[in-house]
This record gives sequence, structure tokens and C-alpha cells, in this order.
Amino acid sequence: MDPKPPSPPHVLIFPFPAQGHVNSMLKLTELLLPAGLHITFVISAKDHDRLSRFTTVHSRLNSYPGFRFHVIHGIYEGTMDTDEKLTLMIDSMPKVTTPVIRNLLLESKVTCFIADGIMGFSLDAAEGTGVPVMFFRTISACAFWAYFCIPDLINSGDLPFQGTNLDERIVNVKGMEEFLRRQDLPSFCRSGLNNHFFQEITTVTRRTTEAHALILNTFDNLEGSILSQIQKHIPNIYTIGPLHSHLKSRSTSQSTISSNSLFEEDKSCIDWLNQQPPKSVLYVSFGSLATITNDQLTEFWYGLVNSGKPFLWVIREDLVRENNKVPCELEEGTKERGYLVGWAPQELVLAHPAVGAFLTHNGWNSTLESVVEGVPMVSWPFFADQQMNSRFVEVVWKLGVDMKDTCDRGIVENIVKEVMEVRKDEFVNSGRRMAELAKEAVSSGGSSYRNLDRLIQDIKLMSARSG
Ligand code: UDP
Repeated sequence: MDPKPPSPPHVLIFPFPAQGHVNSMLKLTELLLPAGLHITFVISAKDHDRLSRFTTVHSRLNSYPGFRFHVIHGIYEGTMDTDEKLTLMIDSMPKVTTPVIRNLLLESKVTCFIADGIMGFSLDAAEGTGVPVMFFRTISACAFWAYFCIPDLINSGDLPFQGTNLDERIVNVKGMEEFLRRQDLPSFCRSGLNNHFFQEITTVTRRTTEAHALILNTFDNLEGSILSQIQKHIPNIYTIGPLHSHLKSRSTSQSTISSNSLFEEDKSCIDWLNQQPPKSVLYVSFGSLATITNDQLTEFWYGLVNSGKPFLWVIREDLVRENNKVPCELEEGTKERGYLVGWAPQELVLAHPAVGAFLTHNGWNSTLESVVEGVPMVSWPFFADQQMNSRFVEVVWKLGVDMKDTCDRGIVENIVKEVMEVRKDEFVNSGRRMAELAKEAVSSGGSSYRNLDRLIQDIKLMSARSG
């Protein structure tokens, strides 16, 4: 009698329940499934429900016999726009999810556990099960490295900040000595050493050294010098991004964009974009978590209208903390040149020929989506890793201008004009070069392409060894 064929490797994937995390870990899932891996994707009930309502993810993934969602109930479902609320979420997660994860690891013959590296308790949940844990971080390598260096910055006296001058230089993050300022460090560094979230993110980032490997949604030609710094502490890194572009390049299906939106996309903006001249439109979005005050809304609004550029603006239902009425003196300019939506099909928008620049909060997914399309950026980072990303956009990659903490109407108007008129050719050219490098990375033989193959082979080897 022939021996029973070995069962395929089984990977447990567990993202933090937020748009950027769920999105990129679903893209990773879609890249792993065609290699014959079985995947259980752990998801909160709220996100599962939203994906069912607003995307085709179920039909896409359920076509693989080895795929299933495992839905967890009882996870915090509120907003996460402040340190306090983020802390609430982060603190509630281990309690609710650890028993479930542990049970899955023990009962479901899991080969490897790919956990969102922001959830250090995943290592504890896996302890004693014999299942190797890989950390997937959804942020840039530069932001990861800054988080990793925080204990060194405390030792060197850079943290906590003495005084209020955020322009002061930081020279103790290796690889960034030439250009880093206090204001470029992850936003939690401004809150003081006792801030709970600051402590949590510092500890969890250092705990990456306990994981079997680190997976990052980036590519070597974008962040090579920083990656080599990280590699001194974490030797096994798989850089496999930009994931959305990687998925498109390996996809055999006609539909090239796999939306994982937790909000309903308003596709009418594509018809509006179709009527605009090439590279004329400023696309404005602050992602899924950022919130702004009514004053900030007003300043942005004046800046956008006064820049004279057509603009497509994502004003999420919960973007503005107070109310979001258009100032009446701006109604005319908005009607003439603006188009507002509650949520956009962003990958489609950034790929549209009418889009000339992106006013972004520099969430890592948004940043990479802009890089891939060669769209220049006006950066207005909101929190967490975004302050680092915007610095790299301006001084390292030279893909745009970093507004940082200001959003005065005059500054918005001037920087939009700087990016879309005065220095347009410069940014379009550097954007085009970087977009080519991104596409190379995910094409056959490119660095991310090879790293994904290596990741798949390594998981298969783990499975063969565990027999
Ligand atoms: N996004 C979208 N439509 C929008 C705004 C955002 O599809 O109107 C998507 C965007 O393409 C990205 C994700 O939401 O993939 C936001 O992730 P990011 O890391 O940029 O920011 P976060 O929401 O985590 O702050």
C-alpha cells in the first residue's frame, strides 16, 4: 500500500484588527495560498462582517480548499485615534484571543504561526506548543528600526525629550544620523516614558528577536541600508513587498485589484476622475484611523480650494471630531473643483492617470501604494510610524514634501503648488524611478519575489521536518 501523502503545511495568520493590518495580511494570505499552503486566518467578528459586506474576499479565498477564516468575538470594537483608545484595544486583545490562539495551535496541526508583530503576546500564546512564530510587521523598516532603537535613545539621554524643541537633531539611530529630528521619531516618543503605549510598542518591537523570523512589507531597493541595520539583530528577514503590487504581478486572474476594504468604496469618483486632465488631481486621504479637528478641516479645505487644483477628498464618516460642514465661502470652489467621498477605491484612484499628487497621512500601505504608482506626496503624518515615513518620503526617497505638524491654510496651498507645479518634474521623475524599482522587486527574479519563494520553501521545510 502507498504511504499516505503528507498533509500540506498549515499556517495560522493573525493580524491586529485595523484596516492597514488586515489588508496587508490578507494580501500575504493570497500570495501564500497558490503555493498549496493551508491557511487559517484569525479575524475579529466586526472585520469579518465588514469584509463580507464590502469586498469579494470570501469568494476569492474560499476558492482555495485549504483556506478558512476563524472568527473571534469579544474584541474591542471602538475607534483607535488616540493613545488611550489604542491602549484599550491592545490591552483587551491578549485576554480575548490568547485562549483561542493556543487552542488552534494545539488542535489544528499548525506548521507555522504568522502573527502581527505588534501583538507580542502571540509569542506567549505559542509557548510550549512547538509551533514556530514569525512576526509580520505592517510598518516600514525605517519605523521598525526607530522603535527598535528606543531603549538606546533612552540610554543616550535623547529620550525623554528635554525641552520642547522638536527640531533638535537625533544622532543615535544608526543609518539616520544625517537627517533625523525629534519630530521625525514615532509620535509616541513625544508622550514621555511612562506612556503605556510607548512602553508597549518598545517592548514588543524588541521581542521580535524572540520570533523565528521577521516578515516586512517593503523592498530592498527602498530600505536596504536600514534593513542591514535590523539584520544585525534579527538575521532572518523576509522583505516581500510591496505586497499589493506583488499580488498583482503573480495573479493569473483578470481582476488585478483585490480590495480588502472594511468600508464601502464609493466608485463614483472614478467617473469623476475620468473627466479630469492627466496628472491634474490632488487625491486627499488620511487613512482609516486618523481624526482631525474642525479647525484642521477648515484649514485643509481653504488650502485645497485656494491651491486651484481639482481635488478628490476622502472624508470618512468619523474623520472629523466635531462636525464637518463645508465653510460657505468655499462651497463654490468645492463645487467647481472638488469631489468628496466617504471611502475611495484607493489603489484604483492612485493608478488613475488624472491623479497628480497624494496628500496623505503616510500610513505605510498608503505610502507604498503611492510609491508603486509613482505619485508624488504631500505628507501630513498623524501618528505612530507615520512621522518616520514622511521624513523618508522627503529627504531619503525625494518623493514629496513633509508638512509634518502644520496644516495652516497658506502652508497647505503653498506645498500643494510646490509639489504639483514648482517642483513637479523633479518629483515625477524620482517617483517614476522608484516605481520601476518597486515593480522590479516583485517581478520574477526580483528581491521580494525571491524572498517570497524562500518564505514558502522554508514553511514547507518546517512541515516536512515536523513530519
Ligand atoms: N484606503 C482605501 N480607501 C480610502 C482610504 C484608504 O481603500 O478611502 C486603504 C488604503 O488603500 C490602504 C489602507 O486603506 O491600503 C490604509 O492603510 P494605511 O496603512 O495607509 O493607513 P491606516 O488606515 O492604517 O492609518
